[in-house]
Amino acid sequence: MNAAIPLQRAAPEREPSYYTATIGIETDYPTLEGEHRADVAIIGGGFTGVATALELAERGLSVALVETHKIGWGASGRNGGQITGSLSGDAAMRKQMRATLGDDVDDFIWWLRWRGHDIIRTRVARYGIDCDLRNGHLHAAMKPSHLRELEASYAEAQRRGMGEEVELLDRAALRTHLDSDLYSGALKNLRNMHVHPLNLCIGEARAAHGLGTSIFEHSEVIDIVHGATPTIVTTKGRIRANQVLLAGDVYHRLARTQLSGKIFPAMGGLVATEPLGDLALQINPQQLAVYDCRFVLDYYRPTADGRLLFGGGANYSGHSSRDVAAELLPCIEETFPKLKGVRIDYQWTCAMGIVVNRIPQLGKLSDNVWYCQGYSGHGVATSHIMGEIMAEAITGTLGHFDTFAACRHVRVPMGDLIGNPLLAAGMWYYQMLEHLR
Ligand SMILES: Cc1cc2nc3c(=O)[nH]c(=O)nc-3n(C[C@H](O)[C@H](O)[C@H](O)COP(=O)(O)OP(=O)(O)OC[C@H]3O[C@@H](n4cnc5c(N)ncnc54)[C@H](O)[C@@H]3O)c2cc1C
Repeated sequence: MNAAIPLQRAAPEREPSYYTATIGIETDYPTLEGEHRADVAIIGGGFTGVATALELAERGLSVALVETHKIGWGASGRNGGQITGSLSGDAAMRKQMRATLGDDVDDFIWWLRWRGHDIIRTRVARYGIDCDLRNGHLHAAMKPSHLRELEASYAEAQRRGMGEEVELLDRAALRTHLDSDLYSGALKNLRNMHVHPLNLCIGEARAAHGLGTSIFEHSEVIDIVHGATPTIVTTKGRIRANQVLLAGDVYHRLARTQLSGKIFPAMGGLVATEPLGDLALQINPQQLAVYDCRFVLDYYRPTADGRLLFGGGANYSGHSSRDVAAELLPCIEETFPKLKGVRIDYQWTCAMGIVVNRIPQLGKLSDNVWYCQGYSGHGVATSHIMGEIMAEAITGTLGHFDTFAACRHVRVPMGDLIGNPLLAAGMWYYQMLEHLR
């Protein structure tokens, strides 16, 4: 069978993936040259930077966004595309945020679970973004302890009025949703969604641009000059702004004095199979996205052109030299025996920013220079919530920002050097615990 025919050819500097092969509209923003002025300058053209830019542009501010490579080049354009209410760090958030929010903490966390879904759905509709957005997700259990966790999630969803949007499936019911013997049950959630993330990110950037945001690609910010009007500096240009947001997640090397040792790269690998034809509906008739309940989990979803896009086994050493297809094909075959020997058309890796306590890190580097990073593998919805929170903060409403900024984070001394081995040891520990659950 043939690989997908690109609607437009992706720029060669993008890491090749299923997403670049099916890119809707390639971006072509200029390199930053000369002196510029903006209300807000944003560093990083992933979801965090783009979502914040769009929020600010909708509020009437002049925004300039600067990206080293291309819009959506990082994790935002290479991820699993799952938009779920599973927040990373929710247990730690609940513990820490009780100090600032008191008894409202549970309501706040519940709101956080779903706010990103609303933002994405609204934007896709408002700006007509073509990104294969679709509802439906399964959180799949592999053993009884997982099922008990899902029962608790289901009970909370019912208490909070989700009604028929969620359904608890036992093994037999799950078998009618997935042609797999791997799972003992699942929580089906029709509010959760899946998406072509690169096309979403590019679509949102185009929307921001349409509202007047200046976007620069091929422009790495090499310095932030702090002061009354902070300035971001590239080799060929500068932008003087009233405020700056650093949204480079794990890819930036700025502000090491304040930020080193706070966030670490884990490498995730993904593959997309050949188009599956009739098999696509046989193995997953409702075309749901799926992930399982393990600490280091497998996640997959059908693509609009009938492939299985499958990810798993994040690598916490921080290195990406892996044969992703060789690693993931056995997992695909174990999950869906009917796919034995399926051809892998695309494989790729990407770094995600991992934070030790898994709470997103929001803060300030100086009076008018902000940062926002670290969604620990759950960033599609979260980055959109954070974009809203950062836009609120930058325009003077600090409530939600302060709640996050007050959270304490572990900072690993010499973290840029030894952080990843420590993280790998930590994940090994969690994988051991997984066996005991
Ligand atoms: C393999 C993988 C699978 C994932 N799957 C899912 C999933 O299914 N669901 C989910 O919710 N989350 C998932 N995630 C996580 C999610 O993709 C990320 O949390 C989210 O995209 C982070 O967005 P971001 O904008 O903060 O960072 P990024 O998308 O990484 O963007 C940061 C950008 O900043 C730019 N930049 C860095 N430094 C500079 C500089 N100095 N100057 C200019 N630009 C700079 C980079 O080039 C980059 O484009 C996954 C992540 C990975 C890696």
